[in-house]
Amino acid sequence: MRAMQHVIVGNGIVALSTAFRLAQRLKGSDTVTVIGPCDRPGAATMAAAAMLNSFAEISAYSLKSKEDRYHFALSRRAAQQWPDFEKELVDAARGVGSACDAISRGEQDRGTYIINNTAADEWDDKNFDAMVKALEDFKEPFTFVHPGEIPNYLPAQHERAARAIYIPDEGWLNPRIVIETLDTILSGHDRVTVIDGEARRFRKSGDAISGVELADGTVVEGDAFLLATGASASALLDASDLGIAMQPVFYGLGVSIEIRSEGHPHTKCVRTTNRGGACGIYSVPLFLGKNGPKDHLVIGASNRVINKPVLYGRLSAVEHLMRSAMQEINGHFYAADLVRVNVGWRPTSQDTYPLLGKTSVGNLCIATGTKRDGFHLSPVLSDIMATLMTGGSAEKEFDMFAPERKVIRDIPRQDAVEMIVNSLMSEQYQHGYNPSNVLMNAQVRETYRKDIEALHDRIGAKDWGIHPELVNMYREGHAK
Ligand SMILES: Cc1cc2nc3c(=O)[nH]c(=O)nc-3n(C[C@H](O)[C@H](O)[C@H](O)COP(=O)(O)OP(=O)(O)OC[C@H]3O[C@@H](n4cnc5c(N)ncnc54)[C@H](O)[C@@H]3O)c2cc1C
Repeated sequence: MRAMQHVIVGNGIVALSTAFRLAQRLKGSDTVTVIGPCDRPGAATMAAAAMLNSFAEISAYSLKSKEDRYHFALSRRAAQQWPDFEKELVDAARGVGSACDAISRGEQDRGTYIINNTAADEWDDKNFDAMVKALEDFKEPFTFVHPGEIPNYLPAQHERAARAIYIPDEGWLNPRIVIETLDTILSGHDRVTVIDGEARRFRKSGDAISGVELADGTVVEGDAFLLATGASASALLDASDLGIAMQPVFYGLGVSIEIRSEGHPHTKCVRTTNRGGACGIYSVPLFLGKNGPKDHLVIGASNRVINKPVLYGRLSAVEHLMRSAMQEINGHFYAADLVRVNVGWRPTSQDTYPLLGKTSVGNLCIATGTKRDGFHLSPVLSDIMATLMTGGSAEKEFDMFAPERKVIRDIPRQDAVEMIVNSLMSEQYQHGYNPSNVLMNAQVRETYRKDIEALHDRIGAKDWGIHPELVNMYREGHAK
């Protein structure tokens, strides 16, 4: 049998986990080549808190379309697969002589408290109710807890939670340790080549891709290719001129911060519901190795969807995270050290769903657009992508996320307008908005509503609506 050369472009969690699955399945003299810059500028994976959340991501508008329900099903499957996947990674790392014997504290790195506090507005309450309903409907274990009993939770009095739940099975990992482990496994594998470089474009010969041209001019040839460069996938496709009509992937610029809180370490994840186009505020313990410090945590995260790569986060994003951490989570964080500011680009497609699977160019697959949960989904996505790259097929529903699909328009216009206005109001409240009376509030809402209706009219969105995160991309003409 002829040897297969698999070439993976990208080196975030989606690319590396797929390379890992492929390496497990190599036959005869098959090979895998991974291409990506080792400093990974803008990689979402390196900025992620790497929460493994399914239910904690539910909001009042979740699970309304078949696409969202299927996405949720993949997310739940990923939650089940993570413990085994983590074990496979540790075993494989040992297999190449690494001293790595843990990438998390196992069971202890599970357990997520969701707080319903007064730092934003009533939209939080609706999202909280929707989350509780989903937990009940799917019979997922959870308990209501008294907010005062949440470990290491000491918010400012005026922003304390009135309600809280504990979801015991939702956890987190340190993404840097996972990536380090994958790097070690792949570079230690005798039939995997890891290239520290950047792809400039794909080369096509006839109906198929023949190779990848790198920024230094060298060409990597192969038989089966995967484009998994996160938010910059569209840029690489545009430069390659392959005739693939994929909706744009934007840069969901997200900022998170790592802090060290001596004397007040977190043992569990404490977070709000998702809020106004972003993920609310969360605080997650950071595992730094068995013998590493125990008092580091990640606070996240902001979200600003833009059409070009920007390497830095805004001061206002960092200021908001620091203030929210001190006021909404624990006042003692005022004395915490700021260790690092993480900036990453969430790969955000125009319809906000992932772009996954085979393309019209026979030997090219794409895996991007995972936006907010690509880390969590990676055990499932890597399995399916490796299967597709080796000639297998995926379950029928997976086609919903085919890279060249039409833009999914699953939000009716009126729902979208309501969602966007609610998001904008929530955002204002998070940034200190304090209307002098109830009439003013109604006027502000009405101003937003008119503006958003006008935007829908202008772009011809009659029976479908814009996703709240994409408003600026439609307004500026980058999404059509
Ligand atoms: C602040 C923040 C918090 C998040 N929190 C979570 C969370 O708690 N849980 C969760 O599941 N997800 C979270 N996410 C989302 C998650 O990080 C992403 O969904 C996921 O990491 C995307 O992985 P990726 O491999 O597709 O892209 P990336 O991680 O962005 O990786 C793409 C890689 O491709 C490389 N690359 C780019 N261009 C080229 C090129 N031309 N040639 C070669 N290589 C190239 C880049 O250097 C980069 O390393 C968060 C994201 C952010 C920004």
